[in-house]
Amino acid sequence: MNRHYVGTPRRNPGELKLELFCRGLRIDPDVLSDEAGRPIVRTRAGLGSGLELVIPGDLKDLWVNAPVVEAFARQSPFVLRRGPNGLFIEDERNGATYPVVLPPEPRWYRARTSTGKPMMDIGILQGTYLGIYVGPPCGYWRSRRLSCKFCTTGENVGVSEALEKTVEDVVETCQRAKEESGVTFVHFNSGFQGGDRDLEMAAPYVKAVKERVGLIVGVQMVPARELWRYDWLIDLGVDHFSFCFEFYDPEWFRRICPGKDLTLGQQAFFRAMEYTSRRMGKGRVSGEIIAGIEPIEATLGAIDYITDVGAFPTVCVFRPLIGAEMEDWPPPPFEDMVVVHRYMLEACRKKGIPIGIAPNIEVSLVFLPTDAFYLVDRRRWDMRWYRWRNRILAWLARPYFAWQLWPHRVRDRGPDFYRRRFQKQAALQSDGVMG
Ligand code: SF4
Repeated sequence: MNRHYVGTPRRNPGELKLELFCRGLRIDPDVLSDEAGRPIVRTRAGLGSGLELVIPGDLKDLWVNAPVVEAFARQSPFVLRRGPNGLFIEDERNGATYPVVLPPEPRWYRARTSTGKPMMDIGILQGTYLGIYVGPPCGYWRSRRLSCKFCTTGENVGVSEALEKTVEDVVETCQRAKEESGVTFVHFNSGFQGGDRDLEMAAPYVKAVKERVGLIVGVQMVPARELWRYDWLIDLGVDHFSFCFEFYDPEWFRRICPGKDLTLGQQAFFRAMEYTSRRMGKGRVSGEIIAGIEPIEATLGAIDYITDVGAFPTVCVFRPLIGAEMEDWPPPPFEDMVVVHRYMLEACRKKGIPIGIAPNIEVSLVFLPTDAFYLVDRRRWDMRWYRWRNRILAWLARPYFAWQLWPHRVRDRGPDFYRRRFQKQAALQSDGVMG
């Protein structure tokens, strides 16, 4: 149907996902009374709380975690309603409607681990993958002076997430999530723990998941100073590392992430990202940034830098969360976010970063590079070739991922081995023996 939308044009699925991040969503009260969707009010590791939705699309279906509880969402032109054919979002500016699907709450959310904890307190789906916070609450939250100003993690871990997660808790939750929700990827994250021992804390979980469940494993922790720790985790089976340096402009980094600046420094993130990217290869590591706070030029600079080192950018659209110091800041303009995310895809294409290779990983909290195909002219031959190239790579990688999704023994030679090997290599390099 050709319809003329006055003022605001009709959005395609990608534009709609991005604009929902920027403007939020109101919910018609009738809608949720009968719908058993995933629970709404839940802050996920400092990123965002919201309603999980799926927007069907011709290139791909898009998962979105739409802001619904923050103040700005109350002014949103988007309203979730129910019609005879199911749920839809109406844009009140122009009357456009978009069908959406509310993914049901998985049955295992309410199940308990053998230690009696609700599985939903161990891990939660964020799109199609399982996110698990491990370790004590972020150390920066001991003083609000040090915590990142956009973050609310300290308010949630131990309140809406179980504080102590045993390896058994995690294995059982991963097993159920894999069996019942078809999860392929588990992502371990944590806040600042201090003492350069963050990766050590993740190690037993990674090993157990690889050996007893069989999942693709990602780890997001503050950067380790001793880089041999990454060698160890890679042998234990980590498939992906991400590094949240958040802001490229050092002044913004200092201002918004005072704890990270004081205890680690921005360079520690860059050093660890460059090291792991060299060790693991293109597209296996990501640099995570927040768009919509520092000037847009700095965000584009961050994307250039991340893709230059062979990593892929994970760009979070700034969400002023309730309870964060930046709660009253405005969300970024939609138009700016289109520029940023288009640029992200162009940078990945120009530098040949593989995207969308691992199976069934859709992320609701960020706009993925693969989502950004909706933001470019799809007739462009270079974009078509890039999509095809990624499809071929995904096909070639199928046996590898099949192996990763099968429980298998990993090589664990213990931290001392990796420390000694790293020191030996560094000594040889400084003697000029190695290139
Ligand atoms: S490091 Fe910053 S963003 Fe991460 S949990 Fe701690 S305060 Fe929050």
